[in-house]
Order: sequence, then structure tokens, then C-alpha cells
Amino acid sequence: MDTHHLLISGSIDTEVILPDIAYMRTYIANVCFVGDPVSGHWMLVDTGVATCGDDIKKYADARFGRPPIHILLTHGHFDHVGNVIALADYWDVPIYAHKNELPFLTGQQDYPPGDSTVGGGIMAVVAPMYPHKAIDLQNRIHPLPADGIIPEMDEWRYILTPGHTPGHISLLRDRDKVLIAGDAFITVKQESALAVMQQEKEIHGPPTYFTPDWDTAKDSIVRLAKLPIALAITGHGVPMSGEELTEGLQLLAQNFDSQAIPEQGRYVNEKE
Ligand SMILES: [Zn+2]
Ligand SMILES: [Zn+2]
Repeated sequence: MDTHHLLISGSIDTEVILPDIAYMRTYIANVCFVGDPVSGHWMLVDTGVATCGDDIKKYADARFGRPPIHILLTHGHFDHVGNVIALADYWDVPIYAHKNELPFLTGQQDYPPGDSTVGGGIMAVVAPMYPHKAIDLQNRIHPLPADGIIPEMDEWRYILTPGHTPGHISLLRDRDKVLIAGDAFITVKQESALAVMQQEKEIHGPPTYFTPDWDTAKDSIVRLAKLPIALAITGHGVPMSGEELTEGLQLLAQNFDSQAIPEQGRYVNEKE
């Protein structure tokens, strides 16, 4: 099974989670449409796998009838920025990301290559083939304000949740305790192609083949697990809520070393 086959054997599905939150699964990665369709004031969170740009446009145009305020990136991995240039151009809107992520979004620094020695599954095996080179969003990309504020989206704030990448962020709405987690944790075992295809639900640490800094990733999970979170939409897998979420997150925080960190792998061994 090659990467191409793997990608096309997934699917594109869209689901409205709350009146003002919908998400689209672009084969392997999720995109969030955040905002009220009535007012048309909304932001796009992440942009999915390349080739899904037209699906995102069509859905967004039908749902909101106007461009987003901006595009917000949880981080810059290829499956989250696949359509960012095309969409920002199409809508003529700015892109925001955390300042620590900007080197990877302005062509200055590449992510480390995917690690095929962790996780065991086919997704990990093909990981080195995944693009990890920095893209260059030039004058479209702006750093988020330093204080957790997301411009023009008053109800939302961002939390820096690094580890998976240096400038990874998650988004929280305190009013109803909704978290858009990005890849800080995910709800599918992303290393397993079968689990990805079937979207088997289970809380996991960040995708192992792309996470270079496990100590920091753990710290991010420990901090998230202390927050009251009622509903989480993650970068991969299906949304999770209630006890399943809170217990799963507590367990992940408590057992992070055994549950999330691969026993062996490039980025674990390098530190020793
Ligand atoms: Zn990622
Ligand atoms: Zn991802």
C-alpha cells in the first residue's frame, strides 16, 4: 500500500458539531469552520490535505456565504497547511500562527523528517515520504498576539501546546469549554492505517512519527488535562466529549511515558 493509495482510501466528510462549529475530515486531517453561519463572522482553523481545497471552498461558501476573518493554523505540518495558500488567495485573507511556528511557515526552517521507526503501523512506515519542508507564506502570515488573543474572535483564546511542533497551539472557548486541540493529542491511532480509515476512537498523544520533543509534548498534555474541557475536536480522528474525554485525557497525562512516547525512535534516542 503506497501513500497515494492510503490517502485516497480515506474520505471527505463534514459534520456540524455545534451550531457554530463544523469540521471537515480531509482524508486524514481535520479542518474546523468556527463561527456563526447567520452573522457570517467566522475563521477557518487549519486547511487539510492538499487536493481538498475545492471541497473546503464549496462547503465554506455554502455555509457562510462570505470569506473568513482569517485562517488560523494550529501548526504547519503538511496535512494542516495543504490548501493554505490557495484558500488565502481565494478569500484574500490573512493567516495567523504562533510566532514560534513562523520559521516553518516562512521557508526558513524545515521540520525534522517523519520517523519511520516509531509506532509500527503503515502510516509511520510511509512517514519519511510525507513532505516536511517548510512552506513560505510570505506576507500573508502573521504572528498571533502574545497574550492568547485570537484577533477578531473574542470568545476564543489560544494555548501554546508545543512538543509536536515548537509553535503548536490549541484553541479554547471558555464559555462552553470547547477545545480545538490540533495535534496536541488526537483521537485516533494515527500510526495505524486501519484505525485511521475506520476512525476508531481512542485518545492518543500526538502522532508519533512527527513529534520530535516528547518532554514538551508531555508538559502540554499535563496542562491541557488540568483544564475543564467538555468537547475536543482534534486534528485527527473524531470529536470526543464528556467523561470519555476527561478520563482519557487524565490517563494520557498520568501515563504519558508509556502511552504516548514510542519505546524506540529517532527523537527519543537522540536525547540520550
Ligand atoms: Zn502535526
Ligand atoms: Zn496532523
